[in-house]
Amino acid sequence: MSKPKCPICEKPASPEHLPFCSARCADLDLHRWLSGRYVVPGAATPTDDEGDD
Ligand SMILES: [Zn+2]
Repeated sequence: MSKPKCPICEKPASPEHLPFCSARCADLDLHRWLSGRYVVPGAATPTDDEGDD
């Protein structure tokens, strides 16, 4: 198998921060994920309730 690459910057992933190359990239991915999930401009009320509308 080939070595895993960081999905953010495509550098070789670090065992310490898999699947990322660094804590910074892990953090970037987290923020990207959160901003994609909680698209609530203005009032931010993140809940895990779904499908009960
Ligand atoms: Zn990276």
